[in-house]
Amino acid sequence: MPTNLIPFPVETLLIVDDSPLQRLHTVGLMRDLGVEMIYEAGDGHEALDLLGLLRLPPSLVIVDLEMPGMDGVEFIQHLQERNLNFPLIVASSRETSLLASVETMIQELGMHVLGALQKPLNQEKILGALNTYNSNLALPKTGDALPAVCETELAAAIRNRKIVAYYQPKVDIRTGMLKGVEALARWLHPDTGVIPPDHFIPLAEQTGLIHELTLSMLEQAMEQAALWNERGLPLKVAVNLSPLSLDIPGFVQKIADLLAQHALQADQIVLEITESSVVANLGTALGTLARLRLKGFGLSIDDYGTGFSSMQQLARIPFTELKIDRSFVHGAHARQNLRVILQSALDMAKRLELVTVAEGIETMEDWRLLQDSGCTIGQGYLIAKPMPANDLPIWLKGHHRRLAELRPPAGQVGSASA
Ligand code: C2E
Ligand code: CA
Ligand code: CA
Repeated sequence: MPTNLIPFPVETLLIVDDSPLQRLHTVGLMRDLGVEMIYEAGDGHEALDLLGLLRLPPSLVIVDLEMPGMDGVEFIQHLQERNLNFPLIVASSRETSLLASVETMIQELGMHVLGALQKPLNQEKILGALNTYNSNLALPKTGDALPAVCETELAAAIRNRKIVAYYQPKVDIRTGMLKGVEALARWLHPDTGVIPPDHFIPLAEQTGLIHELTLSMLEQAMEQAALWNERGLPLKVAVNLSPLSLDIPGFVQKIADLLAQHALQADQIVLEITESSVVANLGTALGTLARLRLKGFGLSIDDYGTGFSSMQQLARIPFTELKIDRSFVHGAHARQNLRVILQSALDMAKRLELVTVAEGIETMEDWRLLQDSGCTIGQGYLIAKPMPANDLPIWLKGHHRRLAELRPPAGQVGSASA
């Protein structure tokens, strides 16, 4: 098989496995894929020694989990401690839930894991994993490449509206039709270009600037919603709230004033707040959330599934929408354990009469799975990336041409019949 089937250059490969037979099998598979330089190690210790000797880091490491001496998990933890970050594939004959938990562990360590594969390995499984390769992750995180920002600069940027809302479409998962947008903060920096929110929201939260930032985002989103209303495009607009924003003095009144100022109805605005932050601040959060709900704002649980809250806890918070975190959405079609969590979250949300939103829909497979599972709204790169408000009309034109492709295939039952 030609090398160009591998979606990124694999010059050297390291295989760590205690079984010579398994190593031989994997070496054969990888040679067939065109990899020439292959190193082998029989356990974690041997692999670490070998890595110390190599002049260049390997382009890929395939590691077994169960090994006498240092096992695969320990080996990976050592890699992280030594700041060695190369694409990893984990392989084991153990159960898929164990593989999935190791995969999550590696992700949580901030390392680049392409897949956790059940043995016996074959080319299809390996290529499936290699295809998840993300060049952004292989490089230092983009955030790290950006210069550090300071408090005064951030304060000025908020004041001068250099931090603007980009909008990502939220569409009806049965029809593909545009229903709303989520406002996502972008810092338009004169030197650096567009700075993503992960790079300045933590600083805003540490310095208290998050209050001004939240209010600025709410103001921009409402201005924009009013404009879209005028143009006959009544979209629901979602804004992200930091848990700290709930403590802004007079927050409920401020947001009600903004709403009146833009002559909007509260149910056009959805406030997204992460599951973990609400549960961590239940005492203060509940009162504010209840008052916002009384005024008619939509309330969305963001990143659902990443915290450890029970549905019972969440059912006591007056939410109207459940947003399932993208880690349970993208790729779930190929992973049974993700699908189970996804489906049970959707079922519970339905019983609580919540609107369900799946974020992180990147592929047609993700889209079809969510369509089949009866989710209400979809959001993700497959539909559109976040964009400046002015780009939305052009996107919408192109999107209309895709609606036929997004509708459920003829004869499909499930959500399509509703
Ligand atoms: P979030 O609220 O979970 O927002 C979704 C993030 O996922 C966005 O990243 C969005 O660009 C990204 N995304 C959307 N579709 C896909 C997809 O198909 N695949 C992948 N891989 N990613 C997708 P973004 O804009 O970088 O925002 C990151 C986080 O920063 C947001 O996560 C939110 O927690 C926070 N944030 C953004 N704007 C604000 C804001 O105005 N206020 C506050 N407090 N937080 C904000
Ligand atoms: Ca959000
Ligand atoms: Ca999220």
